[in-house]
Amino acid sequence: MKIKVQMSMVLNLDKCIGCHTCSIPCKNVWTTREGAEYMWFNNVETKPGIGYPREWENQSKHKGGWVMDGGQLRLTAGGRLQKVARVFHNPDLPVIDDYYEPWDYDYASLITAPHKNHQPSIRPKSQLTGEPMQIKWGPNWDDDLAGVCETGARDVNFSGLDHAIYLSFKQVFMFYLPRLCEHCLNPACVASCPSGAMYKRDEDGIVLVDQERCRGWRYCVSGCPYKKVYFNWRTHRSEKCIFCYPRLEAGLTTLCAHSCVGRIRYVGVVLYDADRIHEAASATPDKDVYPAHLDLFLDPSDPETIAAAANQRIPEHVMAAARRSPIYTLAKTWQLALPLHPEFRTLPMVWYIPPLSPVEALAGNEDIRTAVDNLRIPVKYLANLLTAGNEEPVRLALKRLAAVRAYMRSVRVEKKPDDTIAASVGLDTATLLKMYDLLAIAKLEDRFVVPTATHLDKNPLHTIKGCAGFPDYR
Ligand code: SF4
Ligand code: SF4
Repeated sequence: MKIKVQMSMVLNLDKCIGCHTCSIPCKNVWTTREGAEYMWFNNVETKPGIGYPREWENQSKHKGGWVMDGGQLRLTAGGRLQKVARVFHNPDLPVIDDYYEPWDYDYASLITAPHKNHQPSIRPKSQLTGEPMQIKWGPNWDDDLAGVCETGARDVNFSGLDHAIYLSFKQVFMFYLPRLCEHCLNPACVASCPSGAMYKRDEDGIVLVDQERCRGWRYCVSGCPYKKVYFNWRTHRSEKCIFCYPRLEAGLTTLCAHSCVGRIRYVGVVLYDADRIHEAASATPDKDVYPAHLDLFLDPSDPETIAAAANQRIPEHVMAAARRSPIYTLAKTWQLALPLHPEFRTLPMVWYIPPLSPVEALAGNEDIRTAVDNLRIPVKYLANLLTAGNEEPVRLALKRLAAVRAYMRSVRVEKKPDDTIAASVGLDTATLLKMYDLLAIAKLEDRFVVPTATHLDKNPLHTIKGCAGFPDYR
């Protein structure tokens, strides 16, 4: 057993309000430079929709991630020979119009315009060419279902469903999907890079691009099935989300998580067995990848894991953080959080709690075990997004979320706590109350359990609380 530590995130889609606040500090801090204008390391998409870049989920078009081929795990885009053949033209790459042509406005002309009868206006100007341009697509083009009647048919998550029915006015549904690099355990971007510039950090699993070694081949861009590596047209290097590692090393959480208005994000470490990555990524059929992935996670309270971790010199404060990890609790213990498109086989480490809303069906007397199938968002759609089409894990997570709501309703509204609710979803009331605490009212120190880099602070208490050597500004 080879124990590795992975920084991970869980996002509770039940609470995302689509405000895009998370994207803004990320943009302001990491991608305001020339050549990076079109990059959004964190973006928020509306589902149904085809997202940013367009149709990133459609691997028959973009050929990202891994596939099982004759019992072997291989990159969808092919190996070294295929790369050499495409060295001058890689047809799998998204083009700038799939992201969007970044633009700005000449704001100065508003102030300097001469006095006229009409209010002055300014035209959009391309940030690539400096020329006036017509805006035809943007990173949030299908925000709040805008244009979904045209683009919805291309949303791959409607597989097995009649999209026309669900996009009709009376039955339409939507929810938000914030996205960032998944810092995968089996990253296709790293495996696709011919220069060895992409790498996964040993100490916390964050995936980075060595700017000195990158030669701008862009195979990482096409290899990533989540399309979360971007090519900087000015420096001719690839760039990506760095999981705010300078902040994490100081015990702080990422900018997107810290700024999240809906408090939907959780950040923490997960211990996993690196010896079994290949086995998990090779699980067949596709729906078996999620349980195999979950099986890699190690219980940080298990004496065998603790002894092995001590042997492998994993610092005690990291183990303490792993024991308090909200990620382990939400993904493994309660099985509320699920991976995004596990069928891409990269073993992503940003997981999602499926959205339950709208909640009307749960407010009546309907049994919560059946109510989840009557929610507006089809379980099948969520399963296509999160569990390679397997509806059972999604149904279990939704039932448990519904049980928390139903129990708290019995306490707060009906004033008659109903202890039968927990048993109906295979839990006890104490666990439902813990779920309520973590999902609804958790404080910063419970949502973000980030161990500092060991060289900064040897005091485990500081590291667990989060702010080694820095004033506690919370
Ligand atoms: S999501 Fe991130 S780590 Fe995973 S393949 Fe894409 S760029 Fe690499
Ligand atoms: S800040 Fe939070 S609530 Fe707002 S869009 Fe981002 S993830 Fe959703």
